Amino acid sequence: KQRVTVIGGGLAGTECAYQLSRRGVPVVLREMKPQKRSPAHKSDTLAELVCSNSLRSDNPESAIGLLHAELRALGSLVLSAADANRVPAGDALAVERERFSAAITESLLRQPGVELVAGEVEQLPEDGPVVIATGPLTSDALTRELERHVGTRLYFYDSIAPILSADSIDMNVAFRQSRYGKGGGDDYLNLPMTKDEYYRFIAEVKAGQKVVPHAFEEPKYFEGCLPIEVMAERGDDTLAYGPMKPVGLRDPRTGQEPYAVVQLRMEDVGGTSWNMVGFQTRLTWGEQKRIFSNFIPGLQQAEFLRMGQIHRNTFIDSPRLLAKDLSLKTEPRLYFAGQISGVEGYVESAACGYLVALALHARLTGTEFVPPPATTAMGALLRHVTGEAHPPDYPHQPSNISFGIFSPLTGRMKKAEKRAAYSARAKQDLAAWLPHAGVPAAGAPEHVD
Ligand code: FAD
Repeated sequence: KQRVTVIGGGLAGTECAYQLSRRGVPVVLREMKPQKRSPAHKSDTLAELVCSNSLRSDNPESAIGLLHAELRALGSLVLSAADANRVPAGDALAVERERFSAAITESLLRQPGVELVAGEVEQLPEDGPVVIATGPLTSDALTRELERHVGTRLYFYDSIAPILSADSIDMNVAFRQSRYGKGGGDDYLNLPMTKDEYYRFIAEVKAGQKVVPHAFEEPKYFEGCLPIEVMAERGDDTLAYGPMKPVGLRDPRTGQEPYAVVQLRMEDVGGTSWNMVGFQTRLTWGEQKRIFSNFIPGLQQAEFLRMGQIHRNTFIDSPRLLAKDLSLKTEPRLYFAGQISGVEGYVESAACGYLVALALHARLTGTEFVPPPATTAMGALLRHVTGEAHPPDYPHQPSNISFGIFSPLTGRMKKAEKRAAYSARAKQDLAAWLPHAGVPAAGAPEHVD
């Protein structure tokens, strides 16, 4: 079989290299450490956890806990290293970070058919299959090289607006309407504000506590994508002339144009979650919850599926660039895995590395890549990266796993029952799909051609 080059030995690259070699595909894994490090990486080992030592909730009735369970069923290297090096942390899967990374490094060093080559990759290999898994802090030289392949669809900052669960928004306050009736006329949900409500909100945003950027994240904002607090500091009415402008909208309850509005855009095709348009922010998560729930009408009971944030992040516009098997449409020998493809988080990145290994293995063996169902956590992540989970013109942004990107549940049920329903459906559908993943039996001899 052709040898695959995996660039980047982080969460995605290690899982991808391991899964390929377990399936008999030889791999060269190229990692720039220890010769060179990103500003966040400190250790010499692979799969370094750069910040928290938590892989988040292990409860299978949470979306991330479900992803853990699926990765365990799939024989994931990252999950088995996490389980083996777990430290007590309530229902979270937290790990002893050095041992976790050391376990992954040792497994790969022992794995037949994996060659580890240290040093920064500045140019992509000229031929053969390549997996790019260099993460949110891809080195500058490689970033420039990637620009040659994907052009302007490579991004450097992630400005994330919060996402709300649809059934937590007060529909007695919100009204559906597009500005000037554009599109279908009712594509957006609007939360109207009076003048007093608006100025109270602005005062809170200005006074609210903000996250201090890392030293390597000196803020260089795009004018079109400024955080709300930066806009509020420029003038009390800046937001009312920007993302909160009310023009072209009429509140059906008053027949009037509100003083300002918070617009919500549908996040998933099923309409189960809504994005706060233009609300990228560096307010701390606690402050976002407090200010948005208390000072935006209609959000008193809001459930936040994702909080707003802004951080340095190298990622590509995957829905426009990648085929359904995560290969580049214009150069199918190049694959993208992990955070650079638009997932967010340690476990999501590992899962994405696993998906690329499956797709690439299928290509190299001339078999069909059967993607995991959209009802499973693995399938939901794939849908997010390829854009199928979102409306067609949705601006792609890295995302953690959440039930909002799963294929929606059918039938009405109470909120409390939904998590269990998502979980039970995923478990059943993963079991039916599992034979397509060709998981090598534990301890089975691995032969690499
Ligand atoms: P990484 O794990 O970053 O791996 C990429 C690897 O590629 C690195 O080892 C790097 O050295 C290597 N590399 C880069 N360029 C080159 C090159 N040119 N040649 C060779 N090798 C190269 N996620 C969470 O779930 N929890 C958190 O608490 C958390 N905190 C974070 C804090 C910071 C400051 C940052 C930047 C990210 C954080 N993340 C967190 C996100 C986290 O980094 C990713 O989720 C995850 O590590 C991404 O996995 P990855 O494999 O895509 O990239």
